[in-house]
Amino acid sequence: MIIAIDGHSSCGKSTIAKALAGKLGIAYVDTGAMYRAITLYFLRNNIDIRDARQVNHALDTISVSFKSVNGNNNIFLNDEDITDLIRTIEVSNMVSPVATLPEVRKKLVALQQAMGRNSLVMDGRDIGSVVFPNADIKFFITADLHTRAKRRYEELISFNNEVSLQEVTENLANRDQIDSSRATSPLIQLPDAILIDTTHLTLENQLNMVIDKVKEKLKL
Ligand code: C5P
Repeated sequence: MIIAIDGHSSCGKSTIAKALAGKLGIAYVDTGAMYRAITLYFLRNNIDIRDARQVNHALDTISVSFKSVNGNNNIFLNDEDITDLIRTIEVSNMVSPVATLPEVRKKLVALQQAMGRNSLVMDGRDIGSVVFPNADIKFFITADLHTRAKRRYEELISFNNEVSLQEVTENLANRDQIDSSRATSPLIQLPDAILIDTTHLTLENQLNMVIDKVKEKLKL
């Protein structure tokens, strides 16, 4: 069973996807974390993303994987656990430009498709359109920009990140714009995806709604 969850930045996709996977007893894959991992490597190594030679050389030396650590699905860049390092505003500001690069997408899409040999819930921007166009069920999640920025800001502050609400709002608006307008695999609302707007929904409401749709669609 493959469940694809796409949508705008910080709309609650990952929280829903993780909770749904837990309920169904299947794996959860956060593909945004994979793009963030590559971005962290590019930032650390001053890779010029306009230089295809540098980008390809870097991609040849990077391995991205998930491993279970104390019950959490942590992300590794080569052998380093970078789970806590990919959520900074520096990575958030650079990830969408990096994710426009076809070479980067090719590498990560191949990895993601290989994970689909087992049942999973995967969230991202192009899961229903490119990674698993034949997914059993597809969701498109969104919420208004102000609500998303406020939720993200509160989350970042709770992890002691020094950031302002305005900075977070600008980052989300920029990422939405780049993600939706890029040439390769833009974020789109597919006609066969179920739309959920989380602006006025509690987490419990969102999860119940998604579970009902999954039961209905898969006749569980
Ligand atoms: O999901 P998250 O907000 O962490 O994703 C970070 C960025 O990674 C997105 O803004 C987007 O640029 C990129 N991304 C993507 N395709 C995916 C998942 C994420 O382009 N499937």
